[in-house]
Amino acid sequence: MHLLLMGPPGAGKGTQAANLVKEFGIPHISTGDMFRAAIKEGTELGKQAKACIDAGNLVPDEITIGIVRERLAQDDCKKGFILDGFPRTVDQADALTKILADLGLSLKSVVNITVPSSDLVERAVGRRICKSCGATFHIKFSPSKVEGKCDECGGELYQRADDTEETMKNRLSVYEAQTKPLIDYYQKAGLYLEIDGRQAIDKVFKDMVDALKA
Ligand SMILES: [Zn+2]
Repeated sequence: MHLLLMGPPGAGKGTQAANLVKEFGIPHISTGDMFRAAIKEGTELGKQAKACIDAGNLVPDEITIGIVRERLAQDDCKKGFILDGFPRTVDQADALTKILADLGLSLKSVVNITVPSSDLVERAVGRRICKSCGATFHIKFSPSKVEGKCDECGGELYQRADDTEETMKNRLSVYEAQTKPLIDYYQKAGLYLEIDGRQAIDKVFKDMVDALKA
């Protein structure tokens, strides 16, 4: 079960990735985790990536692709993986196709959890977080019993600085522009699956598993 998982910020991708790990017993491989591991282990590519990041530069494609290749070549990926955050461009998608062919693997599906932008903006703008314990609330969907106070610990609730309508709209339009060519790419390859992320978490997961087993 070799999967790519896609979804806009706030669509619940992390939760669903964790569910898939449990269901299929395959590793969740996010780009961020891969970079942190390569840097921590001090691999050659990790060192190069760190030098770029420390200098405030983007990590060039060849380094990113190299790190992905090293990770996907590990034994735990033979049975499957959930790749998350890579590829971000069609060039990277081509590179991934090649890496998998070299490893004798192939993608089963590309799962995109979709939620309309207006819903994601509403989710973000209403989110409130406890300063003391980090519990999350939503002024409309899961309000705290006392406004501005955490149900768990009584701590003060705040709104994250980037949970504003403007920031969210910007993030989503960047995401959409970046993702559109990838959707086309995987639609052409016959691998693309779309899951309605507006539903309850359990139902989203069920739809995903049903589609993957079909
Ligand atoms: Zn709290």
